[in-house]
Amino acid sequence: MVEYWNCAKTFRCRPRLYVEPTSIDSLRTLLNEINKRKSKVRVIGCAHSPSGLSMSNEVLISMKHFNRIIEIDEKNLEIHCESGVLLSRLNEILPQHNLSLKLIRI
Ligand SMILES: Cc1cc2nc3c(=O)[nH]c(=O)nc-3n(C[C@H](O)[C@H](O)[C@H](O)COP(=O)(O)OP(=O)(O)OC[C@H]3O[C@@H](n4cnc5c(N)ncnc54)[C@H](O)[C@@H]3O)c2cc1C
Repeated sequence: MVEYWNCAKTFRCRPRLYVEPTSIDSLRTLLNEINKRKSKVRVIGCAHSPSGLSMSNEVLISMKHFNRIIEIDEKNLEIHCESGVLLSRLNEILPQHNLSLKLIRI
């Protein structure tokens, strides 16, 4: 069993299963299997959340391979991309289209 920590090392978990699917078909098959077993699923990104939000001892799915930029609509200030795209990638690509991520002060 793999031990998984958030990046600040303040929360950890031991998922029963950790998967990095590489295609929609493999993701679909995985979810059907998990559904049959009535397991709970949590999606994980980079585990940068300072909370335990992304931790789970059941099934963890990383979307890291789903990282395609599908469409950039400069006119409407929109980007359509897959859910595993990293913010660092967006920060490289968006300025090339005169766009940027919205800054939210916390
Ligand atoms: C040094 C530092 C500075 C930060 N500064 C800021 C800041 O200025 N403003 C701010 O808003 N945040 C800030 N954060 C928080 C951080 O940016 C957010 O927590 C970020 O959303 C974490 O992204 P992650 O991919 O690591 O998600 P994780 O920590 O892996 O997951 C966070 C949540 O998102 C869900 N999730 C992750 N990926 C997906 C996906 N593909 N599909 C569906 N659900 C998913 C998880 O299940 C979990 O509930 C900071 C964090 C750090 C470490």
